[in-house]
Amino acid sequence: MSLEAQILSRIRADGPISLASYMGECLLHPTLGYYATRDPFGQAGDFITAPEVSQIFGELIGLSLAQAWMDQGSPAPFTLAELGPGRGTLMADLMRATRAVPGFHAAARIALIEQSPVLRKVQAETLRPHEPTWHGSVQSLPNRPLFAVANEFFDALPIRQFVRCGPHWRERRVGAQENRLLLGLTDPAPVPALEHRLADTRDGDIVEYCPAIPTIVGALSRRIAGQGGAALIIDYGDWRSLGDTLQALRAHRSIDILGTPGDADLSAHVDFEAIATVAREAGCAHSRLSTQGVFLERLGITARAQRLASTATGKARESIIAAHRRLTHPAEMGNLFKTLGLYPETAAPPPGLEP
Ligand code: SAH
Repeated sequence: MSLEAQILSRIRADGPISLASYMGECLLHPTLGYYATRDPFGQAGDFITAPEVSQIFGELIGLSLAQAWMDQGSPAPFTLAELGPGRGTLMADLMRATRAVPGFHAAARIALIEQSPVLRKVQAETLRPHEPTWHGSVQSLPNRPLFAVANEFFDALPIRQFVRCGPHWRERRVGAQENRLLLGLTDPAPVPALEHRLADTRDGDIVEYCPAIPTIVGALSRRIAGQGGAALIIDYGDWRSLGDTLQALRAHRSIDILGTPGDADLSAHVDFEAIATVAREAGCAHSRLSTQGVFLERLGITARAQRLASTATGKARESIIAAHRRLTHPAEMGNLFKTLGLYPETAAPPPGLEP
């Protein structure tokens, strides 16, 4: 049975489901989900991420995390974690760039948080020399210093959407009409988690809420606050979510979110304020939200790209220049993508970020 048929029969039996349930099924259904069944990255896939654009991205993340590790007294052993590592490209570039950092590799225990069996296999091939272990969630990470990166991970977490209606909210849910999925609205009701949004929204405004953030960011932050460490969270989004940002991508084009369940990537802009709030409540400090362009510039991306370009010729040289532009230019990924750092209250933020 196709995933669409399964979702339709579930809705017919139990009634409409939240967008978060729909998104969860589409992305991570164990046999028919989008991530469970394919490697979606690159020119031939559905989208391209920063580590796939250029090796410099993972290298600079590595140098920032390694410096933060040294600034905190080079604790050993420590967990070096990546949330949603995709093909493992970022971690491979990070490890290459940190080879010369005294003690870093010897102390690092690499932990990959990944649910897709297909991508775990790709990661095992890319990262075999570093002997990673895999975890289904951050909650099972050991309780020791934690240095972590998450690039385009939070945008893949299921979100719920609510439409403001007076002092209450109507949730957008996925229902069924004959053989088609369609969006509907619940009756207005209060939503405690959105109480603070009554102050900055008006009737008809859409607000998104990611129910997994408290669990995931809470687990990261408790380890960082208690044991030391840092997390770099990079994604598209803004300080506070407003409006419908849920999108489906297939072959680099935007399509109907209900059109092909399990066959298109679904993602939503990240609400960084929600992440920062959970981190603060768990006793962690957080940086200012920085654009990806500024973050990478502060870490020296231009000098690094110039060095690489100076030894390359022809197409290779052009592609280094294009990648630099793609990652940093305001009209490309530079402004849309943001970086937030989490770190202990007694430590400085990782290089590239401001307190
Ligand atoms: N960071 C990579 C891949 C981003 S795509 C890059 O920048 O190229 C999102 C990644 O998160 C994929 O590896 C996907 O399988 C994984 N993922 C999505 N939802 C997840 C979840 N709930 N738990 C663990 N991994 C998840």
